[in-house]
Amino acid sequence: MTPAATPVLEDFRRIVIKVGSALLVDRARGRLRHAWLAALAEDIAELHARGVDVLVVSSGSIALGRTVLGLAPGALKLEESQGAASVGQIALARHWSEALGHHGIVAGQILVTPQDTEERRRYLNARATVQKLLELRAVPVVNENDTVATSEIRYGDNDRLAARVATMIGADVLVLFSDIDGLYTAPPGSHPDARHLPLVERITPEIEAMAGGPASELSRGGMRTKVEAAKIAVGGGTHMIIADGRQKNPLRSVAEGGRCTWFLSGSTPSAARKTWIAGSLEPRGSLIVDDGAVRALQGGASLLPVGVRGVEGSFARGDAVLIRDLAGRTLGRGLVAYDSGEAALIIGHPSARIAELLTHPGRSWMVHRDDLALFVE
Ligand code: GLU
Repeated sequence: MTPAATPVLEDFRRIVIKVGSALLVDRARGRLRHAWLAALAEDIAELHARGVDVLVVSSGSIALGRTVLGLAPGALKLEESQGAASVGQIALARHWSEALGHHGIVAGQILVTPQDTEERRRYLNARATVQKLLELRAVPVVNENDTVATSEIRYGDNDRLAARVATMIGADVLVLFSDIDGLYTAPPGSHPDARHLPLVERITPEIEAMAGGPASELSRGGMRTKVEAAKIAVGGGTHMIIADGRQKNPLRSVAEGGRCTWFLSGSTPSAARKTWIAGSLEPRGSLIVDDGAVRALQGGASLLPVGVRGVEGSFARGDAVLIRDLAGRTLGRGLVAYDSGEAALIIGHPSARIAELLTHPGRSWMVHRDDLALFVE
C-alpha cells in the first residue's frame, strides 16, 4: 500500500491552533513570552489575510495567574487553580487581543465547559456564536472555563477541548503546538532509538501504546491526551497535527513542511457530522415541510420556519427530528433549533417575525443546513 501524502496546510479553509501553557508562559518567571506570541500572531495574520478562518485554543490562565497571586510552585489545589485561572484569564485574553490587534485582527474570548461541546442544545449555541465570530472575521480565543469547572466536569486539558471545538466548527485541521515535534515510537528522552512518525493514518492500539509520558507542571496534556484528541478530531472529519511550537513562527514552519506528525482523517467534517445525525440519534418528532422547502433543502439551504407546515411529536431544542414532505416521504433528519412548543408557534411565518411571535429573539432557521442529513439529494 502506498502511504498517503501529507496534506498541505495552505489548502485548508478553517484551522484551529492550540497553544499550551509551556509555550506561552516562561516556566522560571511565570511570565508571558511576548516575542513568541507576537511571532505566532504574525503567522495567524498571514493565514487570516488569505481568508482562512482561524480559531485559537489557548492555555495559560493558570500559569499566568499563579504568578500574579504569588502561589508556591508545585501542584495546586482545585480552588487555587480556579482562583489562578480567574486572575490569569484576564491577562491571557488581553495579551491575545493586543497581539492580534497589532495586525488589525479582532479577538473574541470564549470560555467553555464540557457541556458546551457535549450537550447538543448548548453545542448548537456555542457553535452559532463561533460561526458568527468567524463570519465577522474575528479570531475566537477559547479556553476552558476553569473558574467554575470542577474536577468531575472538566476537560482538564486543552488538547481534547481543542479537538471538540475543532469538530464542532467543522475545522479542516487542528494544529496542537507542543514542546515535541510529534509522536515517536517511544518517549525519545528515555529511548534514543525512538523513531519519529510523520504520518498516522489510523489510530491503532500500537499507536496508543506509543503515547506514554507524563504531563509537565505547567501543562496538563501529555502525549496521551494528544492521541485522545487525535481520535476525537479524525472521528469528526478533522485532520490533526502535533508540532513543536517552541521556535518562533511555528505555524510558518509547519506550512513550510517542518517536522511534525499528521493524523489523517478519512472523512470530512460535514460527512462525519451527517453520518452521525443520520445514523446515531433517535428522532423525537417530525417537521412536515412544503414543496418550496423541499426544493430549498435540495439546493443546500437551511430549513426556515416559513417552509414548515406541521410539527409532530414532542422534542427539545437540539433533538433529532425527521424531515417529511407533504406526501409523507421522509427526506432526511436534522437537529432542530427550537423545541416543539416554540416550533408550532413560528411555523409558516417569515424568520423576521420570530422575535415578535416568541417574545424573544431566536435563530432564523428551524434546522441549520450543517445539522441536516438528507436521504434524497
Ligand atoms: N485551561 C488551562 C489553563 O488555561 C490549561 C489546560 C492545559 O494545560 O491543557 O491554564
